[in-house]
Amino acid sequence: MELRKNKNEPDGISLLGFGLMRLPLAAEGGQAVDRAKAREMVDYAVDHGINYFDTAWMYHDGDSERFAGEALSAHDRGKFFLASKMPLAFLKEPGDVERIFNEQLKKCKVEYFDFYLLHNIDREHFRIAESCNVYDQLKEKQKQGLIRHLGFSFHDRPDLLARVTSSYDWDFAQIQLNYLDWEQQNSKEQYEILYQKGIPVTVMEPVRGGALAKLPETALAIFKAADPHAGAASWALRFAASLPGVQTVLSGMTTLEQMKENISTMENFTALNDGEYQVIKEALVAYKSSGAVPCTACRYCMDCPSGVDIPRILAVYNNYLLNKSENHPMAGFLFDMEYKLPGPDKQAARCVDCGRCESLCPQHLKIPSYMKEIDSLYEERKSAPGPHSDFLKKE
Ligand code: SF4
Ligand code: SF4
Repeated sequence: MELRKNKNEPDGISLLGFGLMRLPLAAEGGQAVDRAKAREMVDYAVDHGINYFDTAWMYHDGDSERFAGEALSAHDRGKFFLASKMPLAFLKEPGDVERIFNEQLKKCKVEYFDFYLLHNIDREHFRIAESCNVYDQLKEKQKQGLIRHLGFSFHDRPDLLARVTSSYDWDFAQIQLNYLDWEQQNSKEQYEILYQKGIPVTVMEPVRGGALAKLPETALAIFKAADPHAGAASWALRFAASLPGVQTVLSGMTTLEQMKENISTMENFTALNDGEYQVIKEALVAYKSSGAVPCTACRYCMDCPSGVDIPRILAVYNNYLLNKSENHPMAGFLFDMEYKLPGPDKQAARCVDCGRCESLCPQHLKIPSYMKEIDSLYEERKSAPGPHSDFLKKE
């Protein structure tokens, strides 16, 4: 595994980091982590040179930090870096910072965090951070040796990033960066702000919640023609890892197979050359033509008070759009089946347009509009004559 050496860690951080937000689940529909499968992944990661593990208060409804503590305490504390985050969205008063931080140390079974972040800074969360005096409180923890490196994760526009980085001193910053968001979500501008200020970058969502690993055939064919042996995810990881100043690229892996593939990319890492950047540009044009919703499956929008399973519905819709763009003969039927599966209580029709999810979505997706669109699609298909319409009417 390639190690990135910088002012934070002169001995090096593994180029691939393990994001503990999409771990295998104990049961469909829940958020509890499947201990046996996830433990196998952590052990495999450590054995294969991954030394950066990234959890957060909110991941898996709190179970990610608990799991991280259980799994990593079996390993030598000096051999891994653990990152967690202060959930700004949950702070009501300054005293919450101390309470949450202490609980995180306990859950993670550690005496200090190697990397600690103010989680998900956007305009509203930055206001909360300032009103609760979060930076100064965490800086004090750093002086006490409870935090080694202090940073933040970010989901907003570059002008706010410039303000945040000018207002305080940071050891690192975590931004969403991948070849789709490079221009679409201003990743390029964000990266340049950090690079110019000499702030090491931790990359999140390099594969955009898995979307860049599961491409339409047209985009995949472009990658395969350029390199028949490289998977789609490896192009996305290499795009992020090729940038100077990147200290690690986090991947929220769910299966051991994904981990093996990603480790193989980073073990034999080579930066992209000009011809390969051109290949990515061409594949991107093909990807965009599918019209997929840019949801990363982060689940920050959950829980919906009406019970809508937002990330799942968007994933089902994206599958449908991908299949349709490839003229898959079963595109509609597969949509019907997948959409119906969790039951009517979780479907888009339950959306009452309260707007809660939209205000929480770091991608600023117009979720209620998508729910309307997807519900209409489902209703249209239900009333359409055809072999599956009877089946659909039975619910
Ligand atoms: S807008 Fe709809 S989907 Fe979003 S939280 Fe409200 S009810 Fe749920
Ligand atoms: S809709 Fe937004 S908040 Fe919800 S899972 Fe997708 S990207 Fe995350």
